[in-house]
Order: sequence, then C-alpha cells, then structure tokens
Amino acid sequence: MKTLSDADRAYLLGKIRTVENFPKPGVKFKDITTLLNDKEAFKFLFDHLEERYKEMDIDYIAGIESRGFILGAALCARLNSRFVPIRKAGKLPYTTIGEKYSLEYGFDEIEIHIDAFKSDIKKEKPNVLLIDDLIATGGTAKAAVNLINKSGANCIEACFLINLKFLKGDEDLKKLTNIYSVLEIN
Ligand code: AMP
Repeated sequence: MKTLSDADRAYLLGKIRTVENFPKPGVKFKDITTLLNDKEAFKFLFDHLEERYKEMDIDYIAGIESRGFILGAALCARLNSRFVPIRKAGKLPYTTIGEKYSLEYGFDEIEIHIDAFKSDIKKEKPNVLLIDDLIATGGTAKAAVNLINKSGANCIEACFLINLKFLKGDEDLKKLTNIYSVLEIN
C-alpha cells in the first residue's frame, strides 16, 4: 500500500499552518486552509490518496464535519465514490442515528442519516472509508466508526491528514479499524 517518503511528508507538512492558542490557550491548531489554497500541494495530496485508495473496494467515503467534508468530497470525485456526511448533533435534516463521546469536560454527539449507506449498493455491508483532517484524542473518530458500523456498513479504514501521535488517539481507534495517517506529529 502506497505511503509517502519523508521528503514528501515534509513538503506537505510545510503547507499546513500552525496557529498557536486557537481556539483556546495552549492549543496548537493545525490550519489546513493554507494547503487547500495551494493548488500544487492540493493536487499532490489527492494524487497520493487516489493512488492509495483506487484499488481498495470502497463503496462510500464518510467525512467528519467540517474539514472531513472537504477532504472526503474531493477524494470521492477522484475515486468516483459516494460521500456521506457525519455531522454534529442537530444539523442533519432527516432521521439520524447518533453517537455520544466524551470531551475533557462533558460530552459531544455526532450523527449520520439513518439511510446513509442504503443507496444503490447491493452488498449486505458496504465498505466505508472514514476521513478527517486530524486525529487528536481519537474520540470523534471512534464515535464515527461506531456510527458507520451501527448503520449497517463496515468501516475498512480511517484516514487522517494529520495524526497528533503524542496524544495516542490512534491506540484505541486501531482496535476498531485500520488507520492511515498521511502525516504524523510526534
Ligand atoms: P479528537 O476527537 O480529540 O481526536 O479531535 C479531532 C477533531 O478535532 C477533528 O475533527 C479535528 O479537526 C479537531 N482538532 C482537534 N485538535 C486539533 C488541532 N490541534 N488542530 C486542528 N484541528 C483539531
């Protein structure tokens, strides 16, 4: 399965801006808008993701709100696949299935449409690639994999542009699905 060289990773990482103390003090926010508006870097990233996923039997790509929508929809266009949004509670208009997950204080909830994986697929359990820009503690991604599996599909891989490795969010997630991170920050 294709992965990137160290030089390729350094190139992409250099296109992502780090904003200190956003959205709250102490957070180093990884801002991918700088990569999205660099057309060479954007093409480079999606050439790589297309290469990695074109031979995999992916029926749907599920993107987590909101940067997962951008990456997921762009990858769908490359792979001729079907996009499914996973959104914060209360945003999707039709009947939904929800999954709560813990935050530092309290909890959050994400939702998916109840019929998200029931379009033209004849398979009993369609294959889903989950995508988001970044995995930190892994709580959001774990809830998303649970939602996909609860919806009658099979999450075959979770793909992230960035893995904040030092937060170890991938350790629990890898018990649920395969993980691919384009970039890792230690
Ligand atoms: P978590 O559930 O802790 O893995 O958080 C992942 C979600 O929060 C993803 O949807 C990310 O877009 C966002 N996120 C968390 N930490 C950061 C960060 N340092 N920079 C950018 N986005 C972040």
